[in-house]
Amino acid sequence: MIKRSFLGLAKPKFEVQRIGLPLSEVKEVPMPKQVTLMLKKPPERMAGTDTVALSPGETVRTGQKISLSSDSETYVISSVTGTIARIKPFAGDFGNAFIAITIDVTSPEVFDEAFAKRAQSLDPALAGAFLSALPGNPAFSVFFREETPVTTLGILGIEPDLASMTRRFVLSHQKAALQKGIEAVKAITGVDRVVLLVPQDAGMDFKDMAAEVRTVAAAYPGTLPKLLMKDVFGQTVPAGKTCEDLGCTFFSAESVAALGTALETGRFPVEKVITVTGKDQKPVVVTAKIGTPVKVIFDELGIVTGHLDRVVFGGPMTGSAVYTEDYPVLPDTDAILVQDKTQIPPLSQYPCINCGECVRICPARVPVNMLVRYLEAGRYDEAADLYDLHCCIECGLCSFVCVARIPIFQYIRLGKFELSRMHAAEAHHG
Ligand code: SF4
Ligand code: SF4
Repeated sequence: MIKRSFLGLAKPKFEVQRIGLPLSEVKEVPMPKQVTLMLKKPPERMAGTDTVALSPGETVRTGQKISLSSDSETYVISSVTGTIARIKPFAGDFGNAFIAITIDVTSPEVFDEAFAKRAQSLDPALAGAFLSALPGNPAFSVFFREETPVTTLGILGIEPDLASMTRRFVLSHQKAALQKGIEAVKAITGVDRVVLLVPQDAGMDFKDMAAEVRTVAAAYPGTLPKLLMKDVFGQTVPAGKTCEDLGCTFFSAESVAALGTALETGRFPVEKVITVTGKDQKPVVVTAKIGTPVKVIFDELGIVTGHLDRVVFGGPMTGSAVYTEDYPVLPDTDAILVQDKTQIPPLSQYPCINCGECVRICPARVPVNMLVRYLEAGRYDEAADLYDLHCCIECGLCSFVCVARIPIFQYIRLGKFELSRMHAAEAHHG
């Protein structure tokens, strides 16, 4: 039983000044010597020994599709031309399983023709055949499922976390591609309503877009999908449900612009726009091939890391630390943050002192001080039934303000993962 639904959504109370950034500058990271593509296995195949339909030593072209051997609907797109060096299983966090495909880059670059041929017809099958690998990993499949049909698409020109300027860069630099992409998404999906969400201070005119345009205050966490559902679409997502369950989904502006560029050029987009913030806390917008090891980007930007420094994929509120600079840029890597060991907020072993800061800041009005006690004890069912675990919209604000430095957000993510794992196992065993 959920004690309370998601109805308690409050206005965000935590406002952070967005980073000012000269968007005219973008740095192009040169072609790396090697890239690693991460093919994420679908949940039902996590434990299997699947591999991909290619072997080390075989060659690939830029834009070539590499599929899971047992399931051609699960694939990555090669971002380079080269020779497969390694194919290895990779265990991600929260039970995610990947196949890491490392490719030695060769020249000259040769582009695969399959996308150009297939994209001559804009139909639902094109989405399944290629488009889920676009930058941003847009989930086109939700438009074609049998459950609640998705009839509204929100295109996010606003950032998912602090310290990211990636989508704002796309709005200001890829407007024509975005326009073309919007028209293509409409043709492919037949979606009824497309709403482009732009920051209030974008300072641009979007009147000629083939979409409704709504401005959104750039205050975090108001840019997160479940809060946009309430503030822009006037719908409250109940606890444990998704925006898609209410007929609405969100794509990043970069995904849609990348589709526009792909149709214009006939080449599948294999580059990602990323905001990289080094220890000097000055963000830089870069473009890099998907699969580029993060150390190549750091070398290009002159970022040097040392023992106990931290590299975070994503923003400071919701990002995840990676343990090696070999970790590659993924299609949905919007931001990379480097923290000097002296800048990393310390965690502690102190217990909750019941100060109530987390409860006051929580936009979903979760009784976080009680929730965290149950999560720390591994009592996940009670955390969900009694203390609204599933109302949490994963904004990370509670961790940010916790005076006892308890990693609340990590406990929440772990709790949700463990519950979904337990319920999947129960369903499997009948
Ligand atoms: S992450 Fe924390 S503050 Fe944000 S919604 Fe969840 S419980 Fe509330
Ligand atoms: S902010 Fe931290 S210490 Fe304060 S009530 Fe919440 S969990 Fe406890």
